[in-house]
Parts: sequence; C-alpha cells; structure tokens
Amino acid sequence: MPDHGKPQLNDNIRRLICSYSGQEVDANGFRRPIGLCSCCPAPGKPVVVEYALEKVNAELEARGGIARAEPGLEAFAPLLPVRGLSPSFAGDVGRTSVAKSEPLSAEHDVDVLIKNEGTNPSGSFKDRGLAIAVALGTACGARRFCLPTQGNAGVAASLFSARLGLEGCVVYMPEGYQDGIYHREAAFFGAEIKFSGTNIAASGKQMREDYADQLSSGDLVDVSTFFEPGRLEGKKTMGLEIFDHFGPDGLPDWIIYPTGGGTGLVGIWKALRELQELGFVDPKRHRLPKLVAVQSEQCAPVIRAFERDLDEVEPVQSQGTIADGLDVPGAIMGHAILSSIRESQGSAVAVSEEAIVKAFNTCGRLGLPVSYECGAVLAALENLKRSAQIVPGESVLLLMTASHLVPLGQADNAVG
Ligand SMILES: [Zn+2]
Repeated sequence: MPDHGKPQLNDNIRRLICSYSGQEVDANGFRRPIGLCSCCPAPGKPVVVEYALEKVNAELEARGGIARAEPGLEAFAPLLPVRGLSPSFAGDVGRTSVAKSEPLSAEHDVDVLIKNEGTNPSGSFKDRGLAIAVALGTACGARRFCLPTQGNAGVAASLFSARLGLEGCVVYMPEGYQDGIYHREAAFFGAEIKFSGTNIAASGKQMREDYADQLSSGDLVDVSTFFEPGRLEGKKTMGLEIFDHFGPDGLPDWIIYPTGGGTGLVGIWKALRELQELGFVDPKRHRLPKLVAVQSEQCAPVIRAFERDLDEVEPVQSQGTIADGLDVPGAIMGHAILSSIRESQGSAVAVSEEAIVKAFNTCGRLGLPVSYECGAVLAALENLKRSAQIVPGESVLLLMTASHLVPLGQADNAVG
C-alpha cells in the first residue's frame, strides 16, 4: 500500500537563490511550488536552495555524522529541503554500493571503483532527484507533476507520484517513443502519456502550452531538469554518500560522470562544497575529487564549451546517440556544470559511439549490470588514461547511473 504521509519542508532552509545572478528568490512562504527565477530574462534561470549551515551543523553534531540509519534518502534529511520521507516513499532510494573492480583496476593500473546506481527502485539515479522534486512540490502545495522526457526521468517521476497516491504524472515524450521501454515503464507507474514533437525540447514546449493554466496556478509542477530546485538537491545525495563512504581522507582522485542535463555533476559538487563549509572537509588537508563530464561525440555541448573556455553551454544539433541520457543538446544549468568541473580542476571528455558500445559490452562481460551511459563512463576512463590526465596509482570512481535492463529492453540494442 502506498504511504500517503506528506513530506514536510525542512526548516534548515535559509533561503532560495538564483543560480545565475545570486539574488535571493522570494519563496512566498513556500505556499506554492518553486519554479525558475524571475530576476533573469524569461523563462528564468534555475533556483537553488541554501541552508542555514549553523543549524545543520548543530544537528549533524548531535547525531554524530552525515548519514544516519534511516533507510534511503531520509538519512540525509538535515541537508535536504524536505523531511519525513517515509520508508515506503524513498526508503529504497540511494545508499547504493561502491565496490572496486579488480579486473578494471588491473587493466588500467588505477583503483577503479564502481558506484552502482542501477539498484534504485526504477533502475536509475533519476530516482534521487525525482523523489525529492515530488516531495518538495507536494510540501509546497502541488497536486500533480509533469515533465517532458526521452528516458528514465519520466519513469522515476511517475513512480514517486504513484507512491504519494497522486494523480498520474503527466509525461510528454517525443513522437517515435510510442511502445518503447520508457513509455511502457511510465505507463506501468500510472502516468498519463502524450507524444509530441521530434525531441524533448519540442515535447516540453507543447506540454507547457497545453498545461499553462495548471502550471501557473501551482497545482501542477514542471519537474524538468533544473526547472525546480528539488531534483538538484536529490542528486546531491550522491555526493553526500560518496563522502560518507570514503571519508575526507579517502576521497577518490577522480569522479567520472555521464553528463546529460548535468544535475548529478552540479549536485555532487554542491554536496562537497556544503561539507567543506560545514567543516567536514578541510581544503588545506583534504583534496576534493576532480569531476569529469562525459558526453557522446554525437552530442557534446558541455565538452565543446569546456574546451573553448566558455562560461555558458551553447546548444548544439544532436546527431543522435545510443545513450539516450546523453542526448541533451543544451544545458539550462551550463554555467554551473562548467564551474563545477573547473573548480574541481576536472576535465570533460567526448567519446565515440563505437567506444560506448565496446565499453558497454566490456561491462557486461565483467558482470557489471549497467547502461550505455555507463559504457561512455568507462570509455572516458580509457581516454583519460591514454592522454595521461589520469596517471597510474590514482583512484577513479565511475558513476554507473542506470541498469542494463533499459538498453537490453530496446529492440535495437547493441549487445555483442
Ligand atoms: Zn535569476
């Protein structure tokens, strides 16, 4: 039975700020859901949550550390915008395993550590962000959620809407996704699914036109990537977990992350910076991991912007990639993705489709139950070793963001 206990706002929130201008955003007493800012030109820029770190610190000291024994995401409640995430809502989200791959470590002469996000309830790391987005929207009075999707995000949003007993999530997909695995999965979790446009941007535009009234009333919340602050906070838990697992003295030298919208990359960096401000990490003694964004050569706006030393990500025309999660031709939070990579002294790598498929199949042969995006991550490790950016003896955490079941459930999968 779904548990209809309602998540509550966390009073450790100090304020909301615009990610671009840094100006404070009026939260209106959290009586209505939070969307994009109104200080920047329409439609606005992403809004981020700031915490009263002295209150967080007092709470963490009292409990003796970052994570507690509660199952799932509730363990990180002091640094989340919502509390009261019941075990039946988010008890099986996050807290994913980290394990060293002996064969990959031996092959690459570095410690290769695998964080397996495929064990999340809908099979991907999207569950972290969508659980918090749905919880935060509900705590601010929303009754229903919507998003355009061409992948796992729509499935996750549908699952968490169902767990709160809400009306089915409104999911817009590009035409051509009918009867695909994402359609079937979202429908399984009760979504109302519509097909429009040839890509996710066109689907989203149609959705915002069709539902303009409900979106402006706050009954319906658009949980597109970075359109509200909850998804970033949920993804931040990956960074909190990495810290919890390794401790300040044992953090990996590198974290390689497959970058579509970039919520996870920005979220991991936000977590590490908050931990630094809280005093858990001392910049004089502890070195934070270098973050690496990976994209496909077929659709690499973040990599191009990084290489050209830009401060913003300029949209590209996607040539299509087998890794759906990387088929994101623009980035609304591009400025933060780029600054997260640069502040961490990380890097950005585009990999070929051939390399993605080859590495995906390598993962299968090693017993790693992962998706094409994870193939891209392993291919990026190979590139960085070849270019000697990663050197022997270093430790590298590969974020394996989703399970093998989606790629294998697609008719045109490239297993071999
Ligand atoms: Zn703004």
